[in-house]
This record gives sequence, structure tokens and C-alpha cells, in this order.
Amino acid sequence: MKLLEGKVALITGGSRGIGAAIALRFAQQGADVAFTYHSSEEKAKAVEAELAAQGIKAKAYRSDAASYAAAEALINVVLEDFGRLDVLVNNAGITQDTLMLRMTEEQWDRVIETNLKSVFNLTKYALRPMMKNKGGAIINMSSVVGITGNAGQANYAASKAGIFGFTKSIAKEMGSRNIRCNAVAPGFIETDMTHVLDEKTKEAYLQAIPLKRLGRAEEVADLCVFLGSELATYISGQVISVCGGMTT
Ligand code: NAP
Repeated sequence: MKLLEGKVALITGGSRGIGAAIALRFAQQGADVAFTYHSSEEKAKAVEAELAAQGIKAKAYRSDAASYAAAEALINVVLEDFGRLDVLVNNAGITQDTLMLRMTEEQWDRVIETNLKSVFNLTKYALRPMMKNKGGAIINMSSVVGITGNAGQANYAASKAGIFGFTKSIAKEMGSRNIRCNAVAPGFIETDMTHVLDEKTKEAYLQAIPLKRLGRAEEVADLCVFLGSELATYISGQVISVCGGMTT
């Protein structure tokens, strides 16, 4: 028996990086997978085909996670297409790094809206179908930067720390409905998001990682499989790091 057999999952930002790895791992574990992207249509179509090759139902949707109206429309169309929703992974995220003295209002707003408001948007509309199913799992992608802070990432760190409070509150509000809500805090994972960092910054991160290597997107995805599965039915309101020991 596969770990996610019979479940329908929605993953935001599934066209690349960690989200694409989660989508594939979910499909390999038998889940039907709906996922979103913002602009990478070609990549999304390629992921969709890769998922369908696992013998499950898969569909990519173009949808801006930062938009409240788009979240409602998305959940409605996913319910029409898939019939139910068991697992929501709020993964979509961006960085717009700069020091505080140079940060513009637009850079602050765009990162908070994409990384934090999106979690509100999707959770808001996912709760009703989950209540109807008498259960569900919500997994919010945060970051170790939400725990530690990081110079040049005040907007990003604030968005990721905000996810902690949101996650714990939803866990408390929705626990009696058998809806679990957890946050995952990856460390330094090899994706497009970290490829843009210069060698000096990467070397500094490596020094701070006990396992002395960057993480792989699949290693984050494996935790999401666990949290979305029946192996984690008594785990809610937690922040779990996947960081090679970085925040220890
Ligand atoms: P990535 O490779 O840059 O991929 C980001 C994904 O999010 C893409 O699928 C992108 O879609 C999607 N996205 C961006 N803005 C969106 C929007 N407004 N609406 C819908 N989708 C949107 O990033 P990643 O490294 O995989 O990161 C995934 C998550 O993990 C993020 O929340 C990030 O903050 C978090 N994280 C990453 C690391 C790391 O080291 N990589 C560490 C800690 C936390 P398009 O392809 O269409 O642009």
C-alpha cells in the first residue's frame, strides 16, 4: 500500500524546485496531484506529464497564490476536477533580497503577499472541503530563516516567521475537525532560489551545516509525504526543520 493512496493533494508552486519534488513524491506514493505555477507554463506541463506517468491523475493550474480571489477560484476548480481535497501544501514562495535601508515598499509587499498571504488565501478555501471530508492535512513551507532571521532578508524572514504563528493557530482551531496543520522549515536546498546566491554566501552556509552539504528538494518532499500521510495522524501544530542540522 502506498502512503498517499486515495488522497487528493494540492501543491502551490509545483512547477520547479521543492514543489515539483513534492508533487512527484506524492504521485509516487499514489496521490492524485493538482498543482499550481505562476509563469513557468512549459515546466508545469512537463511536471504534469511526469506525474501522470506514475499512473495517477495530475493537473497543473496557472494561479497566483498571492491573490485571494484566485485562491477561491482555484479550490473550486480543483474540487470540480478531483472531487475532494485531502492535503494542501502551501509551497509557493519568492525572495526579493536587499538590505533594510534599500528595501522598497513593493519588495516588502510582494514577498509578504506571495509567501504569507498566500497561506491564508489557500487555507481559507481548503478548510470547508476538508471539514466535509472529516479530516485533512495542511503543510506550510516556511524556512529556517523564519527561526534565525537573516541580514538582507527582512521581508522573507518575516513572511516565513509569520507562517509559524498561522500554522499553530490553525492547528488549534481545526484540531477538533481532524484537520492537522504543520510547517516545514528547510535549510539551504539546491533549487533555482539558491542558485542565484554567490559562492562566498554558499561557502558561509556550508560552514554552518553539520552535514556539510546542501539539501535536496526530495529530502524536503519526503517529510511532506510523511506529514500528509496516515503515519502522522497525531502530529499537528509543529515546525519541523529539514536543514542538515543547521539550526541545532
Ligand atoms: P523555486 O525553485 O524558486 O520555485 C518556486 C515555485 O513557486 C515555482 O513553482 C513558482 O512558479 C512558484 N511561485 C512563485 N510565485 C508564485 C505565485 N505568486 N503563485 C503561484 N506560484 C508561485 O523555489 P524553491 O526553492 O523550490 O522554494 C519553494 C518553497 O520553499 C518556497 O516557499 C521557499 O521560500 C521555501 N524554501 C526554499 C529554500 C531553499 O533553499 N531553496 C529554503 C527554505 C525555504 P513559476 O515556476 O511559475 O515561477
